[in-house]
Amino acid sequence: MIIAIDGPAGAGKSTVAKKLAQRMGFLYIDTGAMYRCLALKALDQGVAISDTAKIIALAKGVSIDLINNPDGSLKVLLDGKDVSEAIRKPRVTEVVSDVAKIKEVRQIMVELQRRMGVSKDSVMDGRDIGTVVFPNAQKKFYIDARFEERANRRYKEHKGLGNQASLEDVKNDLHNRDTIDSTREFSPLKKADDAIYVDTTDMSIEEVVAYLVDKVK
Ligand code: C5P
Repeated sequence: MIIAIDGPAGAGKSTVAKKLAQRMGFLYIDTGAMYRCLALKALDQGVAISDTAKIIALAKGVSIDLINNPDGSLKVLLDGKDVSEAIRKPRVTEVVSDVAKIKEVRQIMVELQRRMGVSKDSVMDGRDIGTVVFPNAQKKFYIDARFEERANRRYKEHKGLGNQASLEDVKNDLHNRDTIDSTREFSPLKKADDAIYVDTTDMSIEEVVAYLVDKVK
């Protein structure tokens, strides 16, 4: 069974997807982490993000493993190296949407995601899971929240990770990624017609998880 969770950055998707997966005993697959891995690889190799041909070549040779730790957290391996923290740094966040808008990159990642998803019952989160990756997913959710609330949540998350970003920086980043993600030509962020829309602005994480578990059962 596949549970597809889509929505914009900062809506609480990955937090609730992780908890939902744990609650159901499902695999948690964070597809954003995969695009982040590729962006990190490009940055570390000094490849310009505008050099589409080189980015596609990197995508073809990339090895990404998503490991569910027993405590529910996610370990991300890029070419065998633990990059769980490195992929969340602002330098990666700033460029990831430009990497993710490349058609061939998406084709490669979607292929990997489909292979991961059919291996086991999964909760998969991203931007195009219910629309493109698994259009036949048994359950689909679109998780959203008001912009100000999403920015505040991301800001707190950054602080927790020791990142220096100001609230203004976080707002600019969210606005920038929302725009690129929802207006790009290939598989833009969009609610699938049959996805359940959840506005989490005034909900706690536990309330959202309980709501999703109830809908799935
Ligand atoms: O989910 P997260 O914020 O980590 O995703 C990082 C970026 O990866 C998004 O802003 C988006 O550009 C891209 N992404 C995507 N399709 C997905 C998941 C993420 O384009 N399925």
